[in-house]
Amino acid sequence: TKYKEGMTKTRNSFSGKINDLIAKYRKVDEDFFEELEEVLITADVGVMTVMDLIDELKMEVKRRNIKDTQDVKEVISEKLVDIYYGDDDEEIEKLNLQQDNLTVLLVVGVNGAGKTTSIGKLAYQLKSEGKKVMLAAGDTFRAGAIEQLEVWGERAGVDIVKQGAGSDPAAVIFDGIKAAKTRDADVLICDTAGRLQNKVNLMNELAKVKRVIEREIPGAPHEVLLVLDATTGQNAMSQAKIFSEATNVSGIILTKLDGTAKGGIVLAIRNELGIPVKYVGLGEKMTDLQKFNADAFVFGLFA
Ligand code: GDP
Repeated sequence: TKYKEGMTKTRNSFSGKINDLIAKYRKVDEDFFEELEEVLITADVGVMTVMDLIDELKMEVKRRNIKDTQDVKEVISEKLVDIYYGDDDEEIEKLNLQQDNLTVLLVVGVNGAGKTTSIGKLAYQLKSEGKKVMLAAGDTFRAGAIEQLEVWGERAGVDIVKQGAGSDPAAVIFDGIKAAKTRDADVLICDTAGRLQNKVNLMNELAKVKRVIEREIPGAPHEVLLVLDATTGQNAMSQAKIFSEATNVSGIILTKLDGTAKGGIVLAIRNELGIPVKYVGLGEKMTDLQKFNADAFVFGLFA
């Protein structure tokens, strides 16, 4: 139900338009597909993904000999899910948590995307699942970032490791790992600065942070989670491209899905960049973080 509530805008826009189309055309023909293509592109599904989807739909419609647009709806949702998973399955949506050792999550993203809020929500959620969680305040660049993370740490009831503003992020995260090991934590969530203006700086900083983490814990970071604001649509897509060039992003936290009709971006990111969405933000409260599931998401689009 959280999903349903949070996706009201996307759903109303998306299924509303699809229903209009179905009523308008009745028979499946070239014009129907052309207009469907537009509806999908407007929902930010991404041009390339839409092309793939339309091709698949046409084939399936032919294969099943579907004539009536009413019957296409089901095929659309099936194909949306197929396109999302590709050769993979629901495993790709799961957070890579270590059973016996410390799990280190690195969280990246531009300022304003909802990085701090998402870290707070995720800490709370993992803690609720019985994990001992700690935070490392690695965004030493943005004014107020450390304090804001502290507030979320308190709210979620988890410890935070920090240094002063302007300190070296890699040093903060190094301290974080030491503290997490000493205190026998299960998960350390590391914040980072979101400077996108200078790609070289971004790459260097992320590379340095990653080197420190890798040196302390072989195989870590276990996830590099990119926080993207769904309301920015195609801009989120280009941020995803830049960050995945700067570091190997393993999953997306897509925020503010409650505030947009452009939820289709989920499919574009997965299909065009191969990066799965792991969580979606559906509000500003601590409990408004939902594990992503493509089936539930697509069902939510039409429900
Ligand atoms: P940061 O600069 O990336 O750390 O961004 P913040 O975590 O400070 O979030 C920026 C704004 O977005 C804040 O006002 C948050 O309350 C809001 N926000 C974050 N996630 C969500 C979400 O999933 N839904 C809604 N509606 N607002 C969100």
